[in-house]
Amino acid sequence: MYAIVLARMGEISLKGKNRADFEKRLLENMHRAVKGIGKVKISRSEGRILVHLNGADYQEVIEKLRWVPGLVSMSPVITTSQNLEEIKQAAVQLLQQVVLKPTTFKVESRRANKSFPLTSPELSKELGAHILRSVPNLSVDVHHPELTFTCEVRATDAYLYVEVIPGPGGLPVGSSGKALLLLSGGIDSPVAGWMAMKRGVEIEAIHFHSFPFTSERSRKKVEELAQILARYGGRVRLHIVYFTEIQRAIRQHCPDELSITVMRRFMLRIASRIAAERKILALVTGESLGQVASQTLESMFAINHVTNMPVLRPLVAMDKVDIIKIAKDLGTYETSILPYEDCCTIFTPKAPRTRPRLEETTRAEKNLDIEQLVQEAIEKTELISYYKDQENGESE
Ligand code: ATP
Ligand code: MG
Repeated sequence: MYAIVLARMGEISLKGKNRADFEKRLLENMHRAVKGIGKVKISRSEGRILVHLNGADYQEVIEKLRWVPGLVSMSPVITTSQNLEEIKQAAVQLLQQVVLKPTTFKVESRRANKSFPLTSPELSKELGAHILRSVPNLSVDVHHPELTFTCEVRATDAYLYVEVIPGPGGLPVGSSGKALLLLSGGIDSPVAGWMAMKRGVEIEAIHFHSFPFTSERSRKKVEELAQILARYGGRVRLHIVYFTEIQRAIRQHCPDELSITVMRRFMLRIASRIAAERKILALVTGESLGQVASQTLESMFAINHVTNMPVLRPLVAMDKVDIIKIAKDLGTYETSILPYEDCCTIFTPKAPRTRPRLEETTRAEKNLDIEQLVQEAIEKTELISYYKDQENGESE
């Protein structure tokens, strides 16, 4: 029945001279998202994007596009000529399929082609009356209708639709540069990665792994999360840092209650170093203020002190229930809750300091050869690339 999915862009239409570049990126990202679904074609038209289905299943297409940042909403559309009788007929056909129980409705019309014989209000009235006569179960409610039927008379044809499906909004991935996501196996960091992507950031990920204290399976879990994020960004590179020696050194030379803080500082040092080498300008973490005892402002202050890169914390003000909801929607939740150990859980001290002071943290590190530990860990780092729809990552 549907010929086209009409996709609407959001903020990117406001961005003045960058607009062309943003639109280009959005179109590329949309192409990548629907690649492999039938003979779908994408074009621009009158400030919006048309996804020509060419026989493909519209639901499948919308399910993919629903996750493309920069898209505000989508509607599956029936197209007709501008002949009024034909428009009426198509309208009835469409509504007969979607109205299955008593429903209130209204008609909205828009007219780009000013030579069309009826004005928009006239067209709405005419269509409304005809629909009411021809489709059972409908009654009019112009203020709070359950269903809005829209007719857009465009330059040469007319578009009819009833559904408006929300997209993620935001900006096209890649339009705001690149950041390095500290990806643990938990619930939060993949969500943080997605939130950054939604603001146009392309993501590389970094994971700190403490084999053999943590198992191959816990590493697999993180790889799987990177793979899922690649669905939304096209490609995600994952740096896997061999963290065991650092953990050993911390355990041996640092006070137990500060070991988590010191460990986090190493993570940031290494991540900043790798980011700088790759011309990446910011880090992203899944920290959320007060969520666990270690995520206090004092702790963030002490940890943050080792880097002068911006550390983006998209979840900082969010509640766990809302984070979990996004994780479920994203498809990362089920993987995140698999019960494999993380390097942090393994070395968790009995009574970690929740409000570490900077000076005591610095003092706690005095018996460590920080530079050498960082250097060695970086040398042993592996790099794997994950691509959308690809089963396994590729080593680089
Ligand atoms: P998450 O659910 O993302 O694991 P969390 O609530 O468990 O977060 P913490 O364990 O305090 O919180 O970790 C805070 C942040 O530090 C994580 O969101 C992540 O960005 C980073 N992080 C923690 N452990 C690792 C790791 N092994 N590798 C990479 N990043 C990590
Ligand atoms: Mg965690």
